[in-house]
Amino acid sequence: MTDRTLRILFAARDDKWDEYRPYLTRALSETGLEADLSRDHPAEEVDYIVHAPNGGLSDFSGFPRLRAVLSLWAGVEDIVGNDTLEVPLTRMVDPGLTEGMVEYVTGHVLRHHLGMDAQIHGLDGEWTGAAPPLARDRKVTILGLGALGAACADALSRLNFDVAGWSRSPKDLDGIATHHGEDGLAAALGHGEITVLLLPLTRATEGIVDAGRLALMPKGAVLLNPGRGGLVDEAALLDALGTGQIAHATLDTFRTEPLPKDHPFWTHPRVTVTPHIASATRAPSASRAIVDNIARAERGQALENVVDRSAGY
Ligand code: NDP
Repeated sequence: MTDRTLRILFAARDDKWDEYRPYLTRALSETGLEADLSRDHPAEEVDYIVHAPNGGLSDFSGFPRLRAVLSLWAGVEDIVGNDTLEVPLTRMVDPGLTEGMVEYVTGHVLRHHLGMDAQIHGLDGEWTGAAPPLARDRKVTILGLGALGAACADALSRLNFDVAGWSRSPKDLDGIATHHGEDGLAAALGHGEITVLLLPLTRATEGIVDAGRLALMPKGAVLLNPGRGGLVDEAALLDALGTGQIAHATLDTFRTEPLPKDHPFWTHPRVTVTPHIASATRAPSASRAIVDNIARAERGQALENVVDRSAGY
């Protein structure tokens, strides 16, 4: 524990400062950390940086006291390769963010599982249709079983969905058929009538959902992508939608954001665009997570959720 007041630099957008400042201040005081939180500490005095990539700070050289950079975002693809960053980088794991993602994924899986669109768009006076299958007879795959993917898998499994998941390292999750590594991917893809992408964007996952992988999904599968746009080969997805290999894609993330006005996804009858709103970091719980992590470091404990710079997430 240092004997001087900690200097914490908040390096995110102006509106985030207004949103986070009261919660960070309260969390710091509750934790008993003597800290000065500011947007403009002199670089040579800064101990920790609370960071978002769109906040304007991308050169981390010239911060001689810097001990860690704590990202407000769960996805760190914009900062992980930054050569000027020589201290540990943590990514955001926030109970509020996780809760929001569970709600988004569960809602959109239920939409497709229950075939809600038929009723929402109207039956035109035709008293037809069959009851949907039970969730226990619906196969869902989650690619990525980290903070978000594992929580979504668990929530869907509690609703009785037949859930499989895929990650880099082996996992043992109650009620989930887990697969891992290159060898496990085909089995995971072959399972999902509905597949959810919750992988980080890294060198290994860029374009992972390409024509070959789309072809491994069951005919007429539904794809949900709240992960990152770069996971998907967009042209291959449009082809697969055209042949009916993919029945519907609900996309929250895109290679270019905002999605350009003339992009075919906007008007495609079997694509649902949501504007990167699947879930957001929530200031009250995220501030607590950040301050708890700084307090750990100050007690000499290891930081949590440290990014593996070589793996890229
Ligand atoms: P985590 O880092 O906790 O989890 C990532 C998961 O992906 C882990 O299970 C990891 O495997 C797996 N994975 C990574 N690389 C590979 C690979 N090459 N092969 C197989 N599996 C791999 O991330 P989060 O769950 O917190 O977040 C996931 C992503 O969600 C974020 O990176 C971000 O892009 C996106 N996101 C989107 C939001 C939105 O609003 N649309 C909001 C927040 C996040 P292992 O467990 O073995 O490490």
